[in-house]
Amino acid sequence: MTTTKYIFVTGGVVSSLGKGISASSIGKLLQARGLAVTMLKCDPYINVDPGTMNPFQHGEVFVTEDGAETDLDLGHYERFLNKEMHHTNNFTAGRVYQTVLERERRGDFLGTTVQVIPHITDEIKNRFRAVTKGVDVAVIEIGGTVGDIESLPFLEAARQMGLEAGKDNVLYMHVTLIPYIKASEELKTKPTQHSVQKLREIGISPDVLVCRTEKPLGPEMRAKLSMFCSVPKESVIEAPDVESIYEVPTVFHKQGLDDQILMILRMRTQAKDLESWDRVVDRLKHPKREVTIALAGKYTDYKDAYKSVNEALIHGGIANEAKVRIRFLDTTDPKIHEQLSDVHGILVPGGFGDRGIEGKIRVAQLAREEKIPYFGLCLGLQIAVIEFSRNVLKLSGAHSTEFDAKTRYPVIDLLPEQKSVKNMGATMRLGTYECTLKKGSLAHKAYGTLNISERHRHRYEVNNKFRKLLEDAGLSAAGIHAPKNLVEIVELKDHPWYLATQFHPEFKSRPEAPHPLFRDFIAAAVERAQTKRSHAHA
Ligand code: GLN
Repeated sequence: MTTTKYIFVTGGVVSSLGKGISASSIGKLLQARGLAVTMLKCDPYINVDPGTMNPFQHGEVFVTEDGAETDLDLGHYERFLNKEMHHTNNFTAGRVYQTVLERERRGDFLGTTVQVIPHITDEIKNRFRAVTKGVDVAVIEIGGTVGDIESLPFLEAARQMGLEAGKDNVLYMHVTLIPYIKASEELKTKPTQHSVQKLREIGISPDVLVCRTEKPLGPEMRAKLSMFCSVPKESVIEAPDVESIYEVPTVFHKQGLDDQILMILRMRTQAKDLESWDRVVDRLKHPKREVTIALAGKYTDYKDAYKSVNEALIHGGIANEAKVRIRFLDTTDPKIHEQLSDVHGILVPGGFGDRGIEGKIRVAQLAREEKIPYFGLCLGLQIAVIEFSRNVLKLSGAHSTEFDAKTRYPVIDLLPEQKSVKNMGATMRLGTYECTLKKGSLAHKAYGTLNISERHRHRYEVNNKFRKLLEDAGLSAAGIHAPKNLVEIVELKDHPWYLATQFHPEFKSRPEAPHPLFRDFIAAAVERAQTKRSHAHA
């Protein structure tokens, strides 16, 4: 039996330090040594899962194969490790409390006072252990910043694990910020000293410090951090800003972080094999061409809201040796036409709520009429169907009942089972569903097979009453979930590339395995860029 080693990743000073990327990068490096690695994210908030949260506050909701609505860091884990995560790989304080309270009501603790220590911390530790079957190393990321009230029970559980699993089996890595003060032209270590002190108060001494910094640390800074934080110099790791997040494993490796970790955890492994990863980074850094993709979303100022879409576009670029520039469109702009004059593809991502919907419909119309490659994801499919119904089928006022409950032409509607849903949490059509493709479709060409499965997160569906009308006029249902006869993909005839999916392909795209639909969408955009250029030269 393998003894699983644990690496706890905590964050200091401020949030948004890229703790998820750091955690994923060490996961990747250890995987490259031939180890079986899993990742876990603990979120200290009280929501039972992030499914009901506004992406504006907490970024995208990532959906796993088994239909869990999870933190966006799970997307990084899947992309870096090229491996599926499941519902057990993410849990919140709310979920922990819910489990403990349900057990209390059942009578499991009869006679005892139920307390944070040991009951909540025991439940947290059970959840740590639940992901370790057949795993050599579990990298456990604790959300929030050290010093927050909310993350205390998680840190306490991490401390207890050190005691229970033994010194050689647990490593604490603290990701922290070394701010640069312009006026004095100095990097400052004080905030890090304080956050390490905070950790020590809880009983955790970090073994490794990952220092986010704008400027190189230099030997003096390293020595100072080592001394004040009581971390060996070799374990003070610099994490500078890099062009692409996919470079971080290499940046860490060059400083010997993987060797340090293996030494601390007393593990012997094979030499690293990062060949395929290095190829990804190399292609990213040396693109042969460039395309601009317009993203018609709602959260234009907050990039994390479309994390997986952004990454999948970049992967599509890797497959085509192309740099993908993403331009966020303001769909409320009446002159949206002008924003599209020099783009090579348009993507309408998933979304909820009616803000900007008419603008998105207009964008889909322009893509259709001007033959600009179009890729619709979930809401983006619904938009395509609404636009086509209104402007080609001439069903004036056609809409989704999500946005107009009384429309005469409900081309997008709820299935009966969704109409009776009362609770909003975890009740959408979630997770993986199979889909059969039409022979000869763009989708068939992309996937190279007729049977696929993809992840979902939505309530509304194409209304089958309108399907024949749509198909006869040229909007083909190229993918069907046969058991329930649901439209999963639509494609437009006589267009260079116009395809929309009811599912979210972005969740399955990886840098080492770009998603076929993103690959072909970018290929179509490259094609458009090239024809445009040759027209300009003619
Ligand atoms: N709001 C739409 C629905 O619930 C689309 C959801 C999405 O794009 N993820 O069906």
